[in-house]
Amino acid sequence: MKLIADTHTHTLASTHAYSTILENAQFAASIGLLYLGMTDHAPKMTDAPHWWHFESLRILPDELFGVKLLRGIEANICDYEGGLDVTDEQLARLSFVVASIHSPVLAPASVEEITQAYIGAAKNRHVDVIGHSGLADYPYDYDTAIRVFAEEGKLVEFNEGTFSSRPASAENCKTIALLCKKHGCRAVVNSDAHFAYRIGQVPLVSKMLDEVDFPKELIVNADKERFEAYLAERKRRVNA
Ligand SMILES: [Zn+2]
Ligand SMILES: [Zn+2]
Repeated sequence: MKLIADTHTHTLASTHAYSTILENAQFAASIGLLYLGMTDHAPKMTDAPHWWHFESLRILPDELFGVKLLRGIEANICDYEGGLDVTDEQLARLSFVVASIHSPVLAPASVEEITQAYIGAAKNRHVDVIGHSGLADYPYDYDTAIRVFAEEGKLVEFNEGTFSSRPASAENCKTIALLCKKHGCRAVVNSDAHFAYRIGQVPLVSKMLDEVDFPKELIVNADKERFEAYLAERKRRVNA
């Protein structure tokens, strides 16, 4: 699949990733991406940078090698109401927010609790993306939650890293794709790259989405106009 943006990538500020923002942006430019989301781990994750990393993102140029930079974060969903490890004031300084469950931060729990965790995060107006939610150990009521994601205008992520490193989640991802299709919930296809050369590379996700005949018009980062319309929409939502 040809993407115009990759909205979930890591730099070596998350210490189990291995490239700098310059290297990431240079690779993104070489494959024709127009936008790059720099979304390092929020403070509660084991390998996260200090909050100052996020606060100082403002010193970076808006564009590197012709690729527009989204100053982002991968926030941790850290309770069963969908609370995050970053305050609204902190999120307001960033331009893109992925919210994910990570096992070092939130323990597996009942389907009801995980459903509420995702719904709570989706109701946070700063959140753009529900990150890699196909996790095998964190099943939720996909039908109920995806309906809410759609109502809240949030993007469901299909994450190449999850497909390659957590194969047990593949079946859940397919279920999620079918329900996004059913509810008209928009999606993003991201690499979750931890090394520059992986940016924009999404072969396993593309194969799965082809299998379920996923509607192209629901994938916001596969088309420039659609993606820019989403960015304008998120701006209105955050400033409302
Ligand atoms: Zn993650
Ligand atoms: Zn990530």
